[in-house]
Amino acid sequence: MVNDSISSLVNKQRDFFQSGKTRDIDFRIQQLKRLAAVIEENEADILQALHFDLGKSELEGYMTEVGFVKSELNFMIKNLPRWARPQKVKTPLVYFGAKSYIYSDPLGLVLIIGPWNYPFQLIIAPLIGAIAGGNCAVLKPSEIAPSVSGVVKKMMTENFPEEYIAVVEGGVPECSALLENRFDHIFYTGGPVVGRIIMEAASKHLTPVTLELGGKSPCIVDYNIDFNYAARRIAWGKFLNAGQTCVAPDYLMVHKQIKDKFLDCLKEAVNEFYGPDPMKSRDYSRIINDKHFERLQGLLNNGNIVCGGETRGEDRYIAPTIIDNISPTDPVMQEEIFGPILPVLEYEDLDEVICFINKRPKPLALYFFSRDYKKQEKVLRETTSGGVSINDTLSHMTTPYLPFGGIGESGMGKYHGEASFNTFVHKKSVLKNTFWFDLKVKYPPYTVSLQRIKKLMKFM
Ligand code: NAD
Repeated sequence: MVNDSISSLVNKQRDFFQSGKTRDIDFRIQQLKRLAAVIEENEADILQALHFDLGKSELEGYMTEVGFVKSELNFMIKNLPRWARPQKVKTPLVYFGAKSYIYSDPLGLVLIIGPWNYPFQLIIAPLIGAIAGGNCAVLKPSEIAPSVSGVVKKMMTENFPEEYIAVVEGGVPECSALLENRFDHIFYTGGPVVGRIIMEAASKHLTPVTLELGGKSPCIVDYNIDFNYAARRIAWGKFLNAGQTCVAPDYLMVHKQIKDKFLDCLKEAVNEFYGPDPMKSRDYSRIINDKHFERLQGLLNNGNIVCGGETRGEDRYIAPTIIDNISPTDPVMQEEIFGPILPVLEYEDLDEVICFINKRPKPLALYFFSRDYKKQEKVLRETTSGGVSINDTLSHMTTPYLPFGGIGESGMGKYHGEASFNTFVHKKSVLKNTFWFDLKVKYPPYTVSLQRIKKLMKFM
């Protein structure tokens, strides 16, 4: 039954796409404006649903989800006419008179599969790219954040025809049924295990994929820093959304010389943000479900807890926790933490840190705190990661001028700003020739000498 209704939805979307309506740039801009208006109208419901699913405060929900998406929309509406225009490029002299262009063609039908941690932002931000690219879209929000999934379903169903944008709610059976169908692009955000399932399913139809995955993002702290700024920026990036952020600093590597002083500053920052009892803070989120709560509790058993460590099952509360004296072989260092637990390792030599990072899967984000420009460049040149913030956390992913995505185990493909547009179009190469003259030497039977061809091909 699920399979039949999904196939019929996909067929309807295919027909709508074939009608050519979505190709029109004015249509796309109208739809982006419509989406902005719909978000505005439903803002209170979205923020409430985020609070219900994740205990997100209104301000955090706005800052990291609704407000983020609104900025992306404005940026896209402003720039789309320019990005969508065929782009003229140079033509080699041998094609004298001809002109070359890159056209940005819509892909067709795109499937967007979202995770639960930023359940609104991570389903709507890719949708902005899909609309801008002139596509139809099926959204599959995460069933693990059911309130947000319900609000997304309601607001899209009431405002967009399903042959253009549809929302399919549900979990693995619904997602698997969707994957049986042929889409022209699949945009998936979630963990690498399911990422592999998505890629395998996509390969049956040769459908290209964007995989926005996660992993362990390291945060290196040198001795040459502003202690208070660094501590606040790290505590904020780690404990935002109770650590359930794909680009959160996963673990700290702090220079031995300053470790104790820096940990004191970190504790102070946590206290400043959430007060002496973070359980009572309105600004501190909860863990999404019991499964993740239990998994995270199991990671509290090694090292010395220098801050936090308290848990409460009823509302899935885990205090912002910093654990010192962690060894690379401890369980907390074996998987992406994805919760409010910050293990700390110490180092003496930056080369050792680089070697440690390079021996592990390529992270989604890497953070380095140091005033030393040479060291900054060394870390940038000798490591690979999806993105980097120097002397900050998360900031590189919040600007529309920087493409966002992972590499290797942390994903493939990019979005945000112009990268979102480019992800959802096909860059079609076009050469327009004239009938002014015809270069006969290229036709058989070949009469011209190899020497002359070699000379001619220098003009290519
Ligand atoms: P998940 O992999 O469990 O689920 C993501 C989506 O896949 C959901 O919509 C779910 O319904 C679907 N799904 C789950 N199992 C499936 C299956 N067997 N077959 C088909 N579909 C299936 O991911 P999650 O737990 O929701 O998200 C957490 C992970 O996502 C973390 O690793 C985090 O780092 C990563 N993440 C990455 C980004 C990013 O932008 N790179 C953002 C947020 C989260």
